[in-house]
Amino acid sequence: MPGTTDDIPRRLLVIAAHAGDFVWRSGGAIATAVAAGGEARVVALSYGERGESGELWKVAGQTVEAVKEVRHAEATSAAGILGASFDCLDLGDYPLRFGEEVVDRLRDVVLDFAPHVLLTHTERDPFNPDHPVAHAAVVRARLLATGAGVAGAFPTVPPSALFFFEPHQPERCGFLPDTFLDITPVVDRKIAAMAAFASQSYMGTHYAQRAEHRAWHARYANGDASVRHAEAFQRAVPAVVRQL
Ligand SMILES: [Zn+2]
Repeated sequence: MPGTTDDIPRRLLVIAAHAGDFVWRSGGAIATAVAAGGEARVVALSYGERGESGELWKVAGQTVEAVKEVRHAEATSAAGILGASFDCLDLGDYPLRFGEEVVDRLRDVVLDFAPHVLLTHTERDPFNPDHPVAHAAVVRARLLATGAGVAGAFPTVPPSALFFFEPHQPERCGFLPDTFLDITPVVDRKIAAMAAFASQSYMGTHYAQRAEHRAWHARYANGDASVRHAEAFQRAVPAVVRQL
């Protein structure tokens, strides 16, 4: 049943502002879902071509179109390593701006895929102009696709579990993790996927270190010494369980 902790293969949907966001913040979650027999889709609202492709802008004569091509190839490769599909709406970044029709498109993605789990950005991110914009659209699209959990006048799918993935400056974003995912069995896949994003190579180091750091927190919480790498998430919708 979507939104519960039932041990069934998951349909996992990640919607992020930029093409690289999914890999640092949820690459382990994607690989884990796929390894368990589930399915994962990634939708990026932009390629992050202007604001998050630093290495590519060191090249003389660089153009936005050329950067987008590289970013598409990187994202497709990284998603493939993790076992996910990748689509980009190519709405532009820094700033990411769009109208209500994009919310409708995202609603239709949720209706079509009916994810058990939906991942996106935190509500606040004082270090990024686009992440909060994506957050607002995703939350709104999810609600338009699921309604109020009761019958309504429009098509709906069961409510998905909604998690925010870890920002790069978590404290400044008000990120308070309440869920640690043990990604130890799939960490090699995540590291390979991060390496595919050569245009943001520094982020791979950042999040590889963060995964070890979060594993400490996970071990404090459950005492399982086998957890060596973890991803942190914050639940936005209460979990419904059959036992505590
Ligand atoms: Zn981003």
